Amino acid sequence: MTLLLGAIADDFTGATDLANNLVRGGMRCLQVIGVPQEAVDLRDIDAVVVALKSRSCPVQDAVADSLAALEWLRAQGARQLFFKYCSTFDSTDEGNIGPVADVLLEALGASQTVMVPAFPVNGRTVYQGHLFVGDRLLNDSGMQHHPLNPMQDADLVRVLSRQTPHAVGLASRQVLANGAEATGAHLSSLAEQGIRHVICDTLDEQDLDVLAEATVLLPLITGGSGLGQALPAQYRAQGWLATIAEPGRLASAAGGALVLSGSCSRATLAQVADFLAKHPDGGFALDPLSLSEGDKQWEQALAFALQRLSLQAPTLIYASADPDNVKAAQAALGVAQAGHLVETALSQLAVTLVNEGVGRLLVAGGETSGAVVSALGITTLRIGEQIDPGVPWTQTPWPGREAPLSLALKSGNFGGVDFFTRAFEVLA
Ligand code: ADP
Repeated sequence: MTLLLGAIADDFTGATDLANNLVRGGMRCLQVIGVPQEAVDLRDIDAVVVALKSRSCPVQDAVADSLAALEWLRAQGARQLFFKYCSTFDSTDEGNIGPVADVLLEALGASQTVMVPAFPVNGRTVYQGHLFVGDRLLNDSGMQHHPLNPMQDADLVRVLSRQTPHAVGLASRQVLANGAEATGAHLSSLAEQGIRHVICDTLDEQDLDVLAEATVLLPLITGGSGLGQALPAQYRAQGWLATIAEPGRLASAAGGALVLSGSCSRATLAQVADFLAKHPDGGFALDPLSLSEGDKQWEQALAFALQRLSLQAPTLIYASADPDNVKAAQAALGVAQAGHLVETALSQLAVTLVNEGVGRLLVAGGETSGAVVSALGITTLRIGEQIDPGVPWTQTPWPGREAPLSLALKSGNFGGVDFFTRAFEVLA
């Protein structure tokens, strides 16, 4: 069995998003959290995505972590490498996309890679090297105000040129329109001119197919999760990947069902309200001010959850609150401390309740999911069926139990309004 794809993702939910698309394209996929320190069982796995936290950290850390991930993936025999970043090309003039791509190319002894951030079904397209979010240029899409990576220039050739000493070229839509062979020839002629990075136009799924085909033999490709969905078909065309009937098939789920929500995003607030409308006695609200006063509220939440779970009744513990309440808590405690109190409370509930028999756990919130996964000591996630775009069920082995722990990790604005109830119907 050969590992076909080894991906290095610059954040956790981005890693899951890519893994989800690879499964949808027909690959059996494992997500690992950080570079594994112990042997990982890769039998029956076609693709591995290593989730790093390298999007906004200092360049030297991003470079070191990405190189360590590359080394591990090569040791597993990965045939092609994929550096995954956000479809809005989140980065600054210092990096980290350019410097990471440079060191990966160098380590692989490769002379060129492509940059394919587009995700057309989500409205991220690239034309003449300019990134659009819906009908707006990137620098007019709201991303110009991003707190960590403000994107004030939509011209990706220019953006990337500020991050690397190497020449940056373009594969335009006009080239792609002539097909994969012509696109491959264009890339080769740019490589002969010493152009190491090529920003690729992408207007639709067909363009992604052309790019995946044109680059299938490159040691390193880079881009967003959209490109991931186009890769498996090319691996099948090469005869490397068999047609797999249910690449997202997971083991039967078992154990109590629990929802923990630390997200205050608009979509999550609607999901909390929808759950409470269906199960008026099913929710327990945590708030940072009470949590700051001692253990009482946490213990009440635990008792509530244990009682509900003993009845096998749907259970939600949430800190999700509207902007005014969040602001009030942040004003009283500080932003970091309010967040820390909530993340600690929810992750400690997760640990205690999984040990008490919860086997199906849904977590809402990107940071919250990170805190829960880390408190549970989870290092690998097998990717299952998608619940809603970008959010699959996943499973991880749980010591002392026959059935694995099933987890769905939802970042803020993902998922339909009935996500907290429907997710459990999707899971067999
Ligand atoms: P999202 O994916 O929606 O951005 P995150 O979990 O990434 O959600 O971030 C939400 C942050 O808000 C977390 O740090 C969480 O602990 C914090 N938080 C949750 N509820 C509250 C609240 N009621 N008041 C203040 N902060 C909160």
